[in-house]
Amino acid sequence: MKAFTYERATSPAQAAQAVAHTPGARFLAGGTNLLDLMKLQIETPTHLVDVQDLKLDRIEPTPESGLRIGAFVRNTALASDLRVRRDYGVLTRAIVAGASGQLRNKATTAGNLLQRTRCPYFYDTNQPCNKRQPGSGCGAIGGVSRQLGVIGTSDACIATYPGDMAVALRLLDAQVETVDPQGAKRSIPIAEFHRLWGNTPHIENSLKRGELITAVTLPAPIGGRHLYHKVRDRASYAFALVSVAAVIQPDGTGRVAFGGVAPKPWRVEAAETAMPHGAAAVTAQVFADARPTADNRFKLALATRTLAGVIADAKTAGAGA
Ligand SMILES: Cc1cc2nc3c(=O)[nH]c(=O)nc-3n(C[C@H](O)[C@H](O)[C@H](O)COP(=O)(O)OP(=O)(O)OC[C@H]3O[C@@H](n4cnc5c(N)ncnc54)[C@H](O)[C@@H]3O)c2cc1C
Ligand code: SF4
Repeated sequence: MKAFTYERATSPAQAAQAVAHTPGARFLAGGTNLLDLMKLQIETPTHLVDVQDLKLDRIEPTPESGLRIGAFVRNTALASDLRVRRDYGVLTRAIVAGASGQLRNKATTAGNLLQRTRCPYFYDTNQPCNKRQPGSGCGAIGGVSRQLGVIGTSDACIATYPGDMAVALRLLDAQVETVDPQGAKRSIPIAEFHRLWGNTPHIENSLKRGELITAVTLPAPIGGRHLYHKVRDRASYAFALVSVAAVIQPDGTGRVAFGGVAPKPWRVEAAETAMPHGAAAVTAQVFADARPTADNRFKLALATRTLAGVIADAKTAGAGA
């Protein structure tokens, strides 16, 4: 690990300024992703700005009957919150499908949203990787790509966004609240938060330099049955090959988002009108522009089968988490 300096921020605005004005500075939350990347020298920040004292650890009701989740709320606290379990069960289910109990006790809401890809070539510093080192090439294209993306990818990068929680947040139309170094606040729809890789796969989200996430807000509950199915190589402690988050109403209508297939949680709202007609009708539209590799073409059939399982479960399972 490269040497770095450390400070504990005293307010959100001060944290944003500290990162904006110190070259190579980064925010530190739970550290479960950033420190791993630092040990491998994939990330080499010169200065860490710890956000643990900023009182961003509350879950509060909003005037619109939704919930405001502080950026530093731990994954365990969020998944077990009674309001989340009752009204946003898909979020609880997605969070507990990820990582392990110990990691979820440390991992935070903002840190989880910003976790970096698990492409094996990104982690191997002997391999070219446009995301790790812009312009160096992509070891995964033409390499082993079983885990990688089938849609929304580019000629520069075919990695996936790896997280589970964000797939549920996308389904629920969450908003990401931020403050910038000038103290200006903004609210970013989750659909616009993660970027497609395009020619700049090292730019992964719409945050500006020094912009701090302060909270994630959920709109009012939408009812329905909340499900999250995650298919992976091991039963736990593994990232999704394909995941499906869904809220399905008693009449068979509903919403669906997919994880493990694209650079961001993948939701095609226009395809949701096909929900009452079954999984294949939905995925034919969701994956119409897919560009799978020979290694990961199986994800298309897997996505259809996983959604079919979710729809079947919705007919029999109880409501909520
Ligand atoms: C073995 C293992 C298995 C895992 N399995 C899964 C899994 O199956 N599913 C899953 O979803 N996740 C999984 N994870 C990932 C884990 O969920 C993330 O490491 C964790 O959520 C990151 O949160 P953190 O608070 O520790 O972030 P950190 O590591 O502290 O930070 C991550 C990034 O977010 C930035 N950041 C943090 N807070 C803010 C803020 N408020 N504003 C702006 N930037 C900020 C940091 O600068 C850094 O770039 C796994 C991790 C490990 C190590
Ligand atoms: S797929 Fe993306 S992350 Fe993986 S090696 Fe290629 S450029 Fe890097």
